[in-house]
Amino acid sequence: MKFPFRLLLCFVVAFSAGCATQPPTPSAATSVSAPKAAPAPLLLISIDGYRADYIERNQSPVLASLAKDGVKAESMQPSFPSLTFPNHYTIVTGLRPDHHGMVNNTMRDPQLGEFTLSNREAGADGRWWAQGTPLWETAGRSGLKTATMFWPGTEAPIHDYRPDHWRPYDAAVTPDQRVDQVLEWLDLPADQRPSFLTLYFDDVDHAGHEHGPDSPQVNAALGKVDAALARLVDGLKQRQLFDHINLILVSDHGMASAPAKNSVMIEKLIPLDHVQTVSKGVLAGFNPKPGYDFAKIEAKLEKPQKHMQCWDKTRVPARFIYGNNPRVPQLLCLANVGWHITTKADQAKKLKDGKLSLGEHGYDNSDPSMQALFVAHGPAFREGAQLPSFPNVDVYPLMTHLLQLAPAKNDGDFDAVKEALKPGM
Ligand code: AMP
Ligand code: ZN
Ligand code: ZN
Repeated sequence: MKFPFRLLLCFVVAFSAGCATQPPTPSAATSVSAPKAAPAPLLLISIDGYRADYIERNQSPVLASLAKDGVKAESMQPSFPSLTFPNHYTIVTGLRPDHHGMVNNTMRDPQLGEFTLSNREAGADGRWWAQGTPLWETAGRSGLKTATMFWPGTEAPIHDYRPDHWRPYDAAVTPDQRVDQVLEWLDLPADQRPSFLTLYFDDVDHAGHEHGPDSPQVNAALGKVDAALARLVDGLKQRQLFDHINLILVSDHGMASAPAKNSVMIEKLIPLDHVQTVSKGVLAGFNPKPGYDFAKIEAKLEKPQKHMQCWDKTRVPARFIYGNNPRVPQLLCLANVGWHITTKADQAKKLKDGKLSLGEHGYDNSDPSMQALFVAHGPAFREGAQLPSFPNVDVYPLMTHLLQLAPAKNDGDFDAVKEALKPGM
């Protein structure tokens, strides 16, 4: 055992409901009424790109056993667009991307300029994230400690606030190392120990892009992440924490097979030097360029297209809940599932760099291939419960409920997920 018995005892007691020795943590929800027991810690785990049906491949035995002893949703619907940064920020804010402002992985802001995943400076600039209030901020301001083993947004001071413990994103940190970091944080002395934690895995998404969702490489990545979950469960059991911690396991979106030959070459349709191109890929975005007739370009692209659909941002179908944010480009083109929107030059460069992808996401968030994962396990959750599919904005009110926090304004619906909880929780 890595830590002294006294610490272990304090640990279990502190995380048990009804603990008499641990003063309750004040929070917005509890400070006015009779003191309540401190909430059980909550660990939010994301397996990027884990499509809802992957769990049936028998490559995720630990995840399947958490689902069997806990709660599993048929699937969880991502928000539009079904991309990584928009959906991770939705999960921790309960806001649709149009409302939290992370409207794409690649975007332009009239004041802030350009945002891309590889622009670490932009990712660490809190102004990009400030339209939403992430859970670690609400929890921290209410007196709970927080720790994030990667999550989009955690590298930025948002409203001048950061998680108590966080690590700069580094794809080279292995799944096991990520788990060990979380366990280390749970070993901290009571006054520093986090009540809300995140843990993020990217192997499944990487394999899905590189080799396609039906590849043996995706199955291997499922196994690798599941082995890390086994390490986590073992570590929690060693600390006698497994029955005292609430785990929520989600993904941000699914993955569709998208061979490179399925490419719309956008320059064949419009003169690219007449527009400002904001994004390409699955969801392409264009803004007007001074001196050029944008209405003509819009009229051309909004006509029916074989492998994509384009709209002025004011005409995006209502079900996407998208298009009001100033960061959404004026004209959007959404590829049909399995297609890319690119240019000849981009494709040639990707081919040269060996980066042509065989899998994609970002498509219509109601498509079956885009559906995500939801599994929950722990003292608050029912055992062996199945939930119907629900939208990912609902995870946020579930989490604020578990942590006894007053939720920030959000688009979620607690009633849609409360069936996940044991009676009285
Ligand atoms: P995409 O598949 O294009 O939506 O982007 C997903 C990729 O974003 C992942 O595979 C990671 O490599 C990368 N990523 C995930 N989290 C972060 C982060 N916090 N900071 C920078 N990049 C990240
Ligand atoms: Zn993703
Ligand atoms: Zn991806």
